[in-house]
This record gives sequence, C-alpha cells and structure tokens, in this order.
Amino acid sequence: MTELPVAIGILIDTYKKVKALADKADNIELKNHILEMNEQLLNAKEAALELREENTNLKEENRKLKAVQDGELEFRNNAYYDKGGNIPYCPGCYASKNIKVPLVDMEREFINFGNKKCSVCKISYSIDN
Ligand SMILES: [Zn+2]
Repeated sequence: MTELPVAIGILIDTYKKVKALADKADNIELKNHILEMNEQLLNAKEAALELREENTNLKEENRKLKAVQDGELEFRNNAYYDKGGNIPYCPGCYASKNIKVPLVDMEREFINFGNKKCSVCKISYSIDN
C-alpha cells in the first residue's frame, strides 16, 4: 500500500497537470472545480499530517504500555517501580501522561495526607517503605 503522504504528493502532481490544462481551456466552471479540488487536497494533506502525529503518539503510548507488560515496570505498593527497583513512580502521572515521576518524601507536617508526593501533579500517596 502506498503511504498516505506519498499518495497525496502524487495527487498534487496530477492536480497541477490538470490545472495547467484547465487554464488553457478557458472554462470558468472547470476552473472552479479545479479550485475546489485544490482546497480538498489541502484538507486531505492536513488530515494526513494530523494522523501521522496521532500515530506517533499512539506508538509511544504503546511502547510504554509494553514496557509494563514486558516487566520493565511493575505495579505494587500503590505505585509503579522499575522491575526490582525501589523508587516509587507516581501512578497518576504514569497513567495519564506515561511519564515516570519519582515520588518524594512529604514534609513531616503534612504526613497525614500520605508519606510521598508527586512533584508534577502534587498528589500525595501512602507508600510503605
Ligand atoms: Zn504525579
């Protein structure tokens, strides 16, 4: 299968040839259709770029989920850990943004809200040491 951006590139080349012929034909209706076609091609190109970006994001998300599945990360004691590691990562940030944010110790006066806190989302967790 031809990749979408390549296919659109071919369509644009064909469009240019058709437009050159239409310009010679001196037909207003034909020229209007050619203009519409140009607009639709630009829309398709934009949609292809959006799809490519979405695809990149999905691949990255998938890679991270696989990391958990393959055992690079494990969930225990209310948090994610590197396999065999002892640094807890924020479960909220990992679930929503797929980033590993180490939880840090809470200040003593706030300890009743939990004993560890995420420096990114500011949520506190009770993690057994
Ligand atoms: Zn967080």
